[in-house]
Amino acid sequence: ASINKACVIGSGLIGRCWAALFARAGLEVRLFDIDEAQVTTALDAIRDIIAELHDNDLLRDQTVDEVLQRVSGSSNLGDAVGDADYVQECVPEVLDIKRKVFEQLDEVVKDSCILASSTSCIAPSKFTHDLKHSANCIVAHPVNPPHYIPVVEVVPAPWTSELTIETTRAFQLRLGQAPVVLRKEVNGFIINRLQYALLMEAWRLVEDGVATPQDVDTAVSQGLGLRWSFMGPFETIDLNAPGGVVDYCNRYGDTISAVCREQEDTRAMKGTATAATVHAAMRQDVPEDQLKSGARRAWRDRRLAALAVHKHKQ
Ligand code: NAD
Repeated sequence: ASINKACVIGSGLIGRCWAALFARAGLEVRLFDIDEAQVTTALDAIRDIIAELHDNDLLRDQTVDEVLQRVSGSSNLGDAVGDADYVQECVPEVLDIKRKVFEQLDEVVKDSCILASSTSCIAPSKFTHDLKHSANCIVAHPVNPPHYIPVVEVVPAPWTSELTIETTRAFQLRLGQAPVVLRKEVNGFIINRLQYALLMEAWRLVEDGVATPQDVDTAVSQGLGLRWSFMGPFETIDLNAPGGVVDYCNRYGDTISAVCREQEDTRAMKGTATAATVHAAMRQDVPEDQLKSGARRAWRDRRLAALAVHKHKQ
């Protein structure tokens, strides 16, 4: 079934971004939030996102008003969902809230509607069991800000239907996103597992006195990260040996496994001296006031926008 009408439940940071992406793709979008004032604020924020996409030539040759007029708010969950083909849940990352919202949605959606959650790390089986529409439930986890970082992790529960998986994947492509599909649930999905593995090694390097936090960050921002904006670890090794992956593994596999055996001890992070050391190091380049005012985050988003424009032209 084609997806023409979408509904966003929870109009915070991520809900706003999804609404802009849905509207850009030509869908009619309804927004709902338990806090009515959030919907009003969200409509302004969505205008800003759409205008920014337009300024970056990423609005698919549409005007800001054309796209914006597809978005409306609603103060009633049932009205907001209506006969939506796709619902994107964007409520806080709290299991009980997710469970309650999915139970409510289960009562009001039409039978073919896909129920997608934005959760960053809660396995979908924890809040989608025993529902009439369990087979239609799935996770579609974006990365912030999704209008500049296209990857979306599509994570099915054991009872999610193949049709739901495939429809969600195809829908994300239509939005301009880059879906990756997990074949089964795992804590942290793909992105956070990769991210945490790197973060933990960065932590050990600082804690063990090997390097300063700034030098660890430079190794990524002026090194590995440049390649990572267009290829992953597997293509990286494929190109780093004349005979591709198998040749690479034969040449370097033993060395890599030996180093990785030194990386097996997971360190505590919460309340540690290392946390204070890294925090203090970060404040040298980004002082407290810049962190608090959001100036540095705004800079990051401008750089991401420029990178998105560059990648769009590839
Ligand atoms: P947020 O706090 O900005 O927004 C949550 C919104 O949900 C609020 O407006 C709140 O009023 C509303 N809400 C609370 N209970 C509700 C209910 N019962 N029904 C309807 N609305 C309700 O949070 P966020 O950052 O947008 O995160 C939302 C989800 O997206 C979380 O699961 C989070 O893990 C995920 N996510 C966030 C990011 C990110 O970087 N912020 C990235 C990827 C995924």
